[in-house]
Amino acid sequence: MISASLTDEFRSIVGNEWFLDAPEDLATYSYDAFWSEFRPDAVIVPGSTDEISKIMGVANRDRINIIPRGAGTNICGGSVARKGGIIIAFHRMNKILEIETESMCAVVQPGVVNADLQKEVAQYGLMYPPDPASMFVSTMGGNVALTAGGPRGVKYGVTRDYLLGLEVVLPSGEVIRTGGKTLKNVSGYDLTRLMCGSEGTLGIITEITVRLVPLAPARSTLQAIFSDLDDAAKTVSAIIGSGIVPTTLELIDRVVLDVIRDYGGAQFYEGAEALLLIEMDGEAVLVEGQGERIEKFCKEKGAVVVERASTPEEAEKLWQARRSVFGAVARLRPNCIVEDATVPVKRLPEIIRKIVELADKYRLKIGVLAHAGDGNLHPLIMTDLRDKEEMARVDKALEEMYEATIAMGGTLSGEHGIGIAKDRFMAMEFGQSAIELMRRIKRAFDPNNILNPGSFL
Ligand SMILES: Cc1cc2nc3c(=O)[nH]c(=O)nc-3n(C[C@H](O)[C@H](O)[C@H](O)COP(=O)(O)OP(=O)(O)OC[C@H]3O[C@@H](n4cnc5c(N)ncnc54)[C@H](O)[C@@H]3O)c2cc1C
Repeated sequence: MISASLTDEFRSIVGNEWFLDAPEDLATYSYDAFWSEFRPDAVIVPGSTDEISKIMGVANRDRINIIPRGAGTNICGGSVARKGGIIIAFHRMNKILEIETESMCAVVQPGVVNADLQKEVAQYGLMYPPDPASMFVSTMGGNVALTAGGPRGVKYGVTRDYLLGLEVVLPSGEVIRTGGKTLKNVSGYDLTRLMCGSEGTLGIITEITVRLVPLAPARSTLQAIFSDLDDAAKTVSAIIGSGIVPTTLELIDRVVLDVIRDYGGAQFYEGAEALLLIEMDGEAVLVEGQGERIEKFCKEKGAVVVERASTPEEAEKLWQARRSVFGAVARLRPNCIVEDATVPVKRLPEIIRKIVELADKYRLKIGVLAHAGDGNLHPLIMTDLRDKEEMARVDKALEEMYEATIAMGGTLSGEHGIGIAKDRFMAMEFGQSAIELMRRIKRAFDPNNILNPGSFL
């Protein structure tokens, strides 16, 4: 509960209408795309860095928990008030402040939606590469705090690779700037990168400077269908091992394809056990040559059907299957748990075999969707959270899957973050000394532990 005098203090900083504590507002902010529910004490929607600085000053003085929140699309329980407190939402701070074509960079506020930035910079022949599937809703602040990636990650990497500088409000209310607009910057500790992926636990990101790249002049899209999942997985490692770097290399297994087919989406060859969706971009001649080589590769490795799009409309049709996945799986069972295990590409066939084995062992419906080209899997566990017995089996399957992932030299998360979804597995990936060092970093930034407490540390 926030006292009446504190409520007045916050209202005087942001104005009455931007301090929300009506039950319906609190209910709205009780969830993110993870499946737990935590009701905040209030929601504040600030309009400037200065207001955030003042809010943090008050919160730090009175030890009030603060939880930053973008669009709430994270799948790790990162933007809910796990231990009570106030949510800070950024939808008023949603301006693209600068697009500097000569320096190929953009400066944005944290509430800018990823796709809005993409659309804006495309007018200048530029691209902001990170493309999470949630890009039409998720915000740049949330993308930075979780190091979002997406299908283009194979060639272009993740948010961290495009981050040049930040403005950050510390829990004390002090405002710091890290990095800037230069492409090279090796001065001091790399605080920009430390903030990236910090899951809202170290500071509030109030301004973001990102690097842009030229928009590729040509694109080629190809879909390959396999009657054996293992063949498809081996094709992925073979393509990457051959030195070709596609822009995207997505894999969808039969469990998911069947759901998409029933959903009335794309049509596939009846015996399809896996689908690879592959896209290249760059100069037209290069893209054409790569497309031919990849098509040949797929056929040699056992693809039963290979289709290449020759127009943007045909390409869009090939993307239909991938785009309909989340809508389709939501229909099947009450809940779908989206996991994020990531392994070195060479181990992809092995981890996929392991997931199929676990589905069988624990009698679960697990589909495999993967940004396969960078070893990033999203096993989709279609389940019912109300079924305690089934959830106990889900938990065991998850534990075994992450043990196998780590044993293969992989990581708990390729792009979705840890939050409360995977905090219990952190010790598998990090030794105690590394976890203690992270705790010390957290204490140095936030000695009173008011910023997103109860997250992965
Ligand atoms: C259907 C679907 C598809 C998805 N596809 C992808 C995908 O392809 N790739 C991918 O990487 N993710 C994906 N995600 C996950 C999610 O969209 C991303 O993690 C995204 O980056 C979250 O952004 P958001 O604006 O929703 O942030 P939120 O969910 O609101 O917050 C995420 C985290 O960032 C912190 N935070 C937010 N704003 C700030 C700020 N200004 N300062 C400090 N901390 C802040 C929060 O405290 C929280 O810890 C998907 C999610 C869904 C539901």
